[in-house]
Amino acid sequence: MSISLLGDSELPAECAVHEALHWAAQHLEAVEGRAHQQARWLLAEVREQSTTQLAADARASLTEAERQQFMTLVARRMQGEPLQHVLGHTNFYGLRIQVSPDVLIPRPETEAVVERALALLADVEAPRIFDAGTGSGCIACALKHERPGARVAAGDVSEAALDVARANGTALGLDITWQPFDMAAPNAAAAVPGALDLLISNPPYVPDDEADTLSAVVRDYDPPEALFTGPDALRFYRALADWGYEAVQPGGYLLVETHTDGAESVARLFRTQGWIDVHQKDDWTGRPRMVWGRRPSSSKLSSENTKRG
Ligand code: GLN
Repeated sequence: MSISLLGDSELPAECAVHEALHWAAQHLEAVEGRAHQQARWLLAEVREQSTTQLAADARASLTEAERQQFMTLVARRMQGEPLQHVLGHTNFYGLRIQVSPDVLIPRPETEAVVERALALLADVEAPRIFDAGTGSGCIACALKHERPGARVAAGDVSEAALDVARANGTALGLDITWQPFDMAAPNAAAAVPGALDLLISNPPYVPDDEADTLSAVVRDYDPPEALFTGPDALRFYRALADWGYEAVQPGGYLLVETHTDGAESVARLFRTQGWIDVHQKDDWTGRPRMVWGRRPSSSKLSSENTKRG
């Protein structure tokens, strides 16, 4: 990315933090709202400090290296790159998650899926969890962080995504098993640790013919293999419900994030494939977002005593 698009309006040399913020906010206003906030996040990143520390340093001078780097980051934002890519990280469930163009940027909506997983597993001691199509690893990291006693494994078909996920696990000090994994493969069940208490996934769920409806930033910057299903929108759910039935132990759960228009058909599919106690739930924006079901317990008694979060 070049800073040439700043043209004549480069950040003046020898400027102070507050002047740099003012300059950046003026430029970023054209990109989207929250220009002042974005300017603070970007400069805090450059100066490797918190936005609070940055505010306290308002009168400090930028070094030439900081000035150059800040101009580069502002220029990248002005060209439409998502803030998370420019910063190289985002926040998910209170954790700092590194991101790159190789992974879907973790969405706040997915935090609601994590919350549901934690509720489903509240009474399970040392749960076994597998996250299929982990991407940045955000779901696996959040679950392991919240439930340190859980045995968490996660897989992705993309080696590049797995590198990001692995880096996140390491940076956060979380003991998670990361493995190459294709959730659409016919023998997928054989590749995952068995007897799961929870199989969780935020699979690709955007049918190809909806590409035009996505916002430009999603279409241009999230990896297509994390978004699109091909012509069959239910493709990955069908696979998960199928091999998942083998991988999840009796009484265990399958929990997936869904398309806002697709929760009903995913729930129907799960029931057809033998899952019971199938529920769907909205996210905090009030749109259908997730579906979960249980594999029937082998014992009738325990299946009556279902705990729902
Ligand atoms: N939630 C994403 C979007 O709306 C899609 C994520 C996915 O396909 N799993 O763009």
